[in-house]
Amino acid sequence: MARIVQKYGGTSVGDVERIKNVASRIKAARDAGNELVVVVSARAGVTNELLARAKALCPLPSERELDQLLAIGEQETIALTAMALHGIGVRAVSYTGAQAGIFTDKVHTKAKIRTINAAPLEKDLADGNVIIVAGFQGINDDGQVTTLGRGGSDLTAIALAAAIQADKCEIYTDVDGVYTADPRVVPAARKLPEISYDEMLELASLGSKVMQTRSVEFAAKYGVVFEVRSSFNQNPGTIVKQEVAYMEKVVVRGVAVDKDQAKVVVSNIADKPGTAARVFRALAEASINVDMIVQNVGRGGLANLSFTVPLSEKDRAVAALAPALRETGGDVSFDERIAKLSVVGVGMRTHSGVAATLFDALARAGINLELISTSEIKISVIIAKDRADEAARAAPPAFGLDASS
Ligand code: ADP
Ligand code: ASP
Ligand code: MG
Repeated sequence: MARIVQKYGGTSVGDVERIKNVASRIKAARDAGNELVVVVSARAGVTNELLARAKALCPLPSERELDQLLAIGEQETIALTAMALHGIGVRAVSYTGAQAGIFTDKVHTKAKIRTINAAPLEKDLADGNVIIVAGFQGINDDGQVTTLGRGGSDLTAIALAAAIQADKCEIYTDVDGVYTADPRVVPAARKLPEISYDEMLELASLGSKVMQTRSVEFAAKYGVVFEVRSSFNQNPGTIVKQEVAYMEKVVVRGVAVDKDQAKVVVSNIADKPGTAARVFRALAEASINVDMIVQNVGRGGLANLSFTVPLSEKDRAVAALAPALRETGGDVSFDERIAKLSVVGVGMRTHSGVAATLFDALARAGINLELISTSEIKISVIIAKDRADEAARAAPPAFGLDASS
């Protein structure tokens, strides 16, 4: 008997038929003698629909009310999944995040899990029940409902797996595993049998939506090995685990594209000590994530700064920059027609020439590079958004990452 945490994403529980499919998969695992805690997301599209309704009523909704609202998506699926199990003779109990003892901090819409009190859940498990837990939600010390950021059901699953010391954590989604690139955009992408936490973390934070970034961080911190696989077939998926020596033999593990970025250019600012500090302090104080900073060589006492911010934070960036630019001088412009393409691999630490190979592949496809940044295990470039899918298809063959290589 093993103790298994399974997580089913939005498409996997998208309608009544799919919930029945999930229930029969749970039953098979239960009949095989396993203990099961199952995390489910809201049906695909529900969280976005709820958000759209909120914004139609109020352009900047209260974050407390947003959490109150968004949590209902998952609450629907836990009850329906439990009922589907009852319908096929499996004992099951549904739990909201609060009932599952998932305590978070007070930061609405992107709360962090602080502790999990799994005692009630353990009792129901010991009584022979399958436990169905609402993903993406928790409760803070004031008794308020919180949510864990978009894609947060992944985090619920991984945190529960750590809390109850599960033998296995399985993340079921609508693709067969983690691929060398998004398989919906790059049909020739190849499924990876395994990937390190560091690589998965970079791919997630650079735009591969297959796993929530924070869930991978959590898994790495607590050593939760997990498998990403499909809820629609029985194919083996991708194991995500601590890096092992042979992983460095592969230079580039995958390619990620992020279309939700904007490029900011602050031009004609004074070229003297303290200017960049003033600009980026203003953004830091507004908690805006800045990436890919490039400053050109100053001319005539003036300099230009370019960087990227998440598209969703663009309006706040405009507001935060205005007072700083009154002090430093200069103008600001934004370009939303950009995307960030990145290649990721722990093998880059010990191999050279990766940047040249990437730039060659993009040049052959006629794609221009606007900004470039590198770190130990990734290279990112900013390119035109309308060429991003083409670029995503051009990069993998250069690194032997397509199905035919
Ligand atoms: P779920 O609703 O199950 O959480 P998501 O939509 O969040 O599913 O994540 C699965 C999607 O991630 C896939 O449908 C795929 O289009 C996308 N994706 C992006 N990059 C990758 C990648 N490298 N490997 C696999 N899937 C990817
Ligand atoms: N329903 C939430 C979302 O759409 C959480 C999740 O699906 O993981 O972001
Ligand atoms: Mg997801």
